[in-house]
Amino acid sequence: MLTQIRSTRPVPPDSGPPLVDRQARQVRYLRLSLTDRCNYRCTYCMPSEGIEHRPRAEMLTHEELVAICRAFAAWGVERVRLTGGEPTVRRGLVELVRSLRAIEVRGGGRLEVVMTTNGERLAELAAPLAEAGLSGLTVSVDSFDPERFLRITRRGDLSKVLAGIDAAIQHGLAPKLNTVAIRGFNDDELPGIARYAWDRGLVPRFIEVMPMSGGALFIPGELLPAATIRAMMADAFGAEIAQDSGKAVRGLGPATYWRVDGGPYAGRSFGLIAAMTENFCASCNRLRLSATGQLHACLARDESGDLRAALRHGGAGALEAAVRRLLSEKQDGHRFALDGSGGPTKAMISIGG
Ligand code: SF4
Repeated sequence: MLTQIRSTRPVPPDSGPPLVDRQARQVRYLRLSLTDRCNYRCTYCMPSEGIEHRPRAEMLTHEELVAICRAFAAWGVERVRLTGGEPTVRRGLVELVRSLRAIEVRGGGRLEVVMTTNGERLAELAAPLAEAGLSGLTVSVDSFDPERFLRITRRGDLSKVLAGIDAAIQHGLAPKLNTVAIRGFNDDELPGIARYAWDRGLVPRFIEVMPMSGGALFIPGELLPAATIRAMMADAFGAEIAQDSGKAVRGLGPATYWRVDGGPYAGRSFGLIAAMTENFCASCNRLRLSATGQLHACLARDESGDLRAALRHGGAGALEAAVRRLLSEKQDGHRFALDGSGGPTKAMISIGG
């Protein structure tokens, strides 16, 4: 069913001022949730019973996603990250990637389209996604122990994910690996995960847990601060850990990069995404769009603007007004606290991290 999009004639590139918030931070990166569905039930992301999914009519269609991304590209967004839920469960994903890659960005060039996936379906999708022009890939994998992997995902098959990573490498989409570092669960595995990545020419990144869902899924004792991870890596590799520009791997995201200065893995680097202990809000350059068209200025806050209504009932002008209004109200940063307070009520699954 093709939803009638009211007068969304393409927004010409270079139209309207770039998107800059009241802290003078320019938006160059849009994280796009394609679905609120997932084939996993990760313990820190979604309650075991799952969530009530939004009806299909509320989901942005392929055409609407392309129209919205074309508008953002005209306002200076250079990169779109496809997330979920799990983006690979969205039908028409490959065609969507092809359409988004055809979008011209402000100042010329094509929109970069990257994706974060749990890797479960990557073995079958790596080739068509590469052919469609996917610019980059990140695979979320929190344990390389099959039993632990099943425990944290509640459904996952690690062997499928490992086969997916190999397929991605084979098709020129060598992924970054994201691991949520959880004290008492996978902290003993982090050096091993780094070795696995480096032995394949990949970059491992470790993420601090965050209190989403009103803190309901956050256990303060499970937080593994970035400083502790650096100390663990120095111990494991018997070398100094030095900050690294990360030029070789840095995208538009918040990760900082750290290099092993000595030992068998000298020169290799890993990333840290440390929202809780090494806040990066001052350089925030992103917005998030939910699969139902709710634009979120900040991961850590519940305020949002309805782009679906603007697009379906107002057209390009209403869309721009809704985006700029939300941006003008964007706060300076999050208020996450180490006791799990200060987070939003929304679940990570609904906004794709
Ligand atoms: S918490 Fe909000 S302001 Fe801070 S980096 Fe994330 S999205 Fe940006």
